[in-house]
Amino acid sequence: MSPKIIAFDADDTLWHNEPYFDEAQERFCVLFQDYASSQEILGLILNHQVKNLPLYGFGIKAFTLSMIETALQLTNHQISGKGIEQILAIGKDLLQKPVELLPNVESVLEQLKGKYKLVVATKGDLKDQHRKLHDSGIGPYFHHIEVLSDKAELDYEKMLGRLDCKPEDFLMIGNSLKSDVLPVLNIGGHAIHIPYHTTWEYEKIDFEIKHENFKSFASIEEILTIV
Ligand SMILES: [Mg+2]
Repeated sequence: MSPKIIAFDADDTLWHNEPYFDEAQERFCVLFQDYASSQEILGLILNHQVKNLPLYGFGIKAFTLSMIETALQLTNHQISGKGIEQILAIGKDLLQKPVELLPNVESVLEQLKGKYKLVVATKGDLKDQHRKLHDSGIGPYFHHIEVLSDKAELDYEKMLGRLDCKPEDFLMIGNSLKSDVLPVLNIGGHAIHIPYHTTWEYEKIDFEIKHENFKSFASIEEILTIV
């Protein structure tokens, strides 16, 4: 396999992310445990997040606003200013979490650098993703950083247009079959799935992918066996 550009998803591909969201949601569930079960509350948050995606997109700020809407719904609009402040604190804490790289990420980047153009292609808040890239220390390995508002086919096509790269010369690596794999295969690119131990409900798909341009690896260093 000889791609010209190798792009990496960031959250739960380069560094840990979803456990921080799980922890934030647990804090929210504790705050509102007198109103509903954790399971019900998690369902309500997800509903608000998905409904708000066209307006807010992805990321922690959108998540925070969806928690506030969930709190309004749970309390029948009786939530106090103090309660809103506690929700904002959950969001602000998320924006200041330490960045912890997944195992072997840096050594893999070290070995790929110079042979390929390396790109980060991520969703989320622009400022937050730039902060995490900075704090991670792996920014210098990358030729280009792209924070996409979504990861649908058109978003990838626009990015490849800007990078002057044909889909067949593009390899995307990520933990989400829905966002990092399917749209890339659909436009003629190559994709590698590296599952993370926990996945956001929204990113789950309920079918198996079989495609000649698709591979699934258990960990990031397996990339080195094919490029
Ligand atoms: Mg991810």
